[in-house]
Amino acid sequence: MIDNKVIITVAPTGAWPSKQDNPNIPLQPKEIAEEVYACWMAGAAVAHIHVRDDNNKSSMNFDKFVETVEYIRATDCDIILNLTTSGQLGLKDEERMKHLIALKPEMASYDCGSMNWMHNSVFENSPRFLEKLGLVMQENSIKPEIEIFDAGMVYNALYYLKKGVLKAPLHFQFVLGAPGGMAATVENLVFLKSLIPEGSTWGALGIGKGHLPIMFTTLALGGHVRVGMEDNIYYARGVLAKSNVEFVERARRLILEADKDIATPDEARIILGLTK
Ligand code: ZN
Repeated sequence: MIDNKVIITVAPTGAWPSKQDNPNIPLQPKEIAEEVYACWMAGAAVAHIHVRDDNNKSSMNFDKFVETVEYIRATDCDIILNLTTSGQLGLKDEERMKHLIALKPEMASYDCGSMNWMHNSVFENSPRFLEKLGLVMQENSIKPEIEIFDAGMVYNALYYLKKGVLKAPLHFQFVLGAPGGMAATVENLVFLKSLIPEGSTWGALGIGKGHLPIMFTTLALGGHVRVGMEDNIYYARGVLAKSNVEFVERARRLILEADKDIATPDEARIILGLTK
């Protein structure tokens, strides 16, 4: 029964962690692609991809996206690709969308508002950018993963739904525990989930120590899960993750223990209403 299936998204890289933080994090195209493949084998249905420049710094480098996606697409891996549009601060709108138009991933992130980031910068997602991005995604049949860091961002999404910039059914990703956003607590997740329109799909993740409480709550509330080194470099207290696969395997065990099943990529396509 498709209602009982849980989608595991893996976010193997992110914008911030470095090899100094965790030497096992994949940062360059080939290592990201190999990690995604291994996570797919372990049960991940969606890969949320960031890339780094040649110095491993946060980047929206077009060629690195092309290289990473080509590596993955050259294999038999049918994982759903979800490319970030927010891999680097301070870019022009077009630099955050160019890879979507060229590579046409099935999904991409849509950060539904601006916020102060890490207490030292501004994560800017202007109304102009969000309107353009929503329309570019529609034109290219890319499903927005609406990332929510704060309750006001849900209301932005509802506004863009009304305006036709976003189309129902919406898919939300609640990102909890980012400095400057809502904390990774059970209460916050229950509240945020109560705000989204009926018929929406959603997932959630907790950054750092909120990771497991948010995963347990997500499973109890009927959402989908995201794991990976973008959100956690530690597998457990004081224990660095050996690979992203470890996180996927744990999510898989917890989903099965919760008497639910793991969605394959094709089942995830049905759940999310993707038009492959
Ligand atoms: Zn991301």
